Amino acid sequence: MSKIAYLNASQIVTMRGGARKGLAMNDIGILPKGNAIVTDGERICFVGQQEEALRISDSTVDCTDCVLMPAFIDSHTHLVFGGYRENEFNMRLNGADYMEIMQSGGGINATVRATRATSEAELSAKSRKLLCECMRYGVGTVEIKSGYGLDCDNEIKQLDVIESLRKTEDISIVSTFMGAHATPDEYGKNVDAYAEFLVECVLPRIASRCADNPRYAEFCDVFCEKGVFSHEQTIKILECGKQYGLKPKMHADEMMDMSSAALAAKLGCVSADHLLHTGAEGIEALSRSDTVATLLPLTAFSLCESFANARGMVDGGCCVALASDLNPGSCFSNSIPLLIALSTIYMKLTVNETLCALTANAAKALNLSDRGSLEVGKRADLLLLDCDNVNFLSYHFGNNFAKSLIIGGKKVY
Ligand SMILES: [Zn+2]
Repeated sequence: MSKIAYLNASQIVTMRGGARKGLAMNDIGILPKGNAIVTDGERICFVGQQEEALRISDSTVDCTDCVLMPAFIDSHTHLVFGGYRENEFNMRLNGADYMEIMQSGGGINATVRATRATSEAELSAKSRKLLCECMRYGVGTVEIKSGYGLDCDNEIKQLDVIESLRKTEDISIVSTFMGAHATPDEYGKNVDAYAEFLVECVLPRIASRCADNPRYAEFCDVFCEKGVFSHEQTIKILECGKQYGLKPKMHADEMMDMSSAALAAKLGCVSADHLLHTGAEGIEALSRSDTVATLLPLTAFSLCESFANARGMVDGGCCVALASDLNPGSCFSNSIPLLIALSTIYMKLTVNETLCALTANAAKALNLSDRGSLEVGKRADLLLLDCDNVNFLSYHFGNNFAKSLIIGGKKVY
């Protein structure tokens, strides 16, 4: 395999040291012009002086007037789903409330009905288009959750689609089981019975698939919220998942502060996500834990909600990640440029902190230690940005600067 040197970049964002907490997120290890990265197959084999890079490489890529950085990692999406809900979105913009939307057949269970009615082949084709969009924004790794099947066969159908996409697509895919996304219509208001069904029937079936292929579902996620899944139900489901080797994640404190961030930290969740209403106590608990605080500003934007207290979380010493939350209901966007604009302009994170949240810390939110930074031995997931320095990502907001994406050493575009 030939060694390729990436030369002449205006800046190389190394993110050296990988994931970090608090104000250290601002130190992203930028190397000035005169430095280079060399890849050997799917790994990085050299970071340093350009002359040395030229000496040890077989071929070169010219990165003049560009920024070279680790590929983005989108650590929270619901990208595989049936149907769309554009009518519901317009109803909401025109003032319809939650009940009116539900009565018109909208809401998450509309997507559940559509997903159940859609074949694997159709779900794959639709998802493939969205994955191409992700790569166009410079995303090299994406997490995808199940959670629109909500019965044994359809949860497995969704996870099978994710598995088949992992085999055919260039982008790296991480899979999460999220049967506890909502309670399906057939259970009415009996959330306890549905939680019991997940633990007794669905998780054992997922686990038998994972026994042959641990990547089939690496995480178990629960929508922990008043009227969705209680703390008690969340603990039951996540502890059951843990027994089968599925690492816990939580949708926490999205609609109100239920101290769910603190619960996520206590349960050893890999990440606690949303956190729109997490207060000082939750921030303190997260900062003392290994749990990544994953913020999803595109959803808050789409729902006209206030943003999570990102500044407070970074200042308070949390490990903060940012992700899209792409889904057909509350947030049908996977736009990294918009996410960066919201993070830097509204959430008051610096550009450096924002980039750390979208690379090294996002890798930690997926328990991935082999990517998220440009260091010797890490995967060659490289992104070339068509700008002279990283500040342009915020300054020229909304623009997609992604010029070239390399995933595992392979040039995708
Ligand atoms: Zn979500």
